[in-house]
Amino acid sequence: MTRQGLLIVISGPSGAGKGTICQGLLQNNKDMCLSVSCTTRAPRPGEKHGVNYFFVGKPHFEQMIANNQLLEYAKVYDNYYGTPRQYVEEKLAMGMDVILEIDIQGALQVKQKYPQGVLIFVVPPALSLLKERLTKRGTDSLETIANRLRCVCEELSNTGRYDYLVINDTVENALDQAEAIIKAEKCRPSRF
Ligand code: 5GP
Repeated sequence: MTRQGLLIVISGPSGAGKGTICQGLLQNNKDMCLSVSCTTRAPRPGEKHGVNYFFVGKPHFEQMIANNQLLEYAKVYDNYYGTPRQYVEEKLAMGMDVILEIDIQGALQVKQKYPQGVLIFVVPPALSLLKERLTKRGTDSLETIANRLRCVCEELSNTGRYDYLVINDTVENALDQAEAIIKAEKCRPSRF
């Protein structure tokens, strides 16, 4: 019997380099695939239907929700985003690992449905540098520190709900770490 593939969720603030890490994982691992999400937002220049997203209208998206065709979905910046269920379930059943590049709301829904799924939060290096600076010194104005801390706290408060945190200082390091996490996850006794 084929062993189920691993469901890998990658989230993080914009600019964290999630996309680059996902592409690196896909290039290095032929038994891995990326789920293409549905969204109601308009395509950006250069984006292609079926490649970056499935671009659908709101009624279509709501019909998918009603038909239970989405593994998870969320409203992000006034638009719906969701993961088509069938593709993910089929690939996992074939033993392929599936990457979902989704936001925290979706990530938590996935963890509820697939407790064995792995949630990885990618943080840009600027954030960790900022955190270090804010904790070690207090040379910025109080207002600036407060503002930056608020941002940092918002980002970091999310990370506690993830299984792993990867700081993307260099793409090479971040990719190494993500691959190490995935390798280790595959060695869990519960997965045999
Ligand atoms: P963007 O519009 O910049 O492509 O994506 C905005 C946000 O939506 C990003 O945080 C991205 O990870 C998230 N996102 C993309 N697809 C999905 C999805 O299928 N489900 C959820 N929950 N979030 C998604």
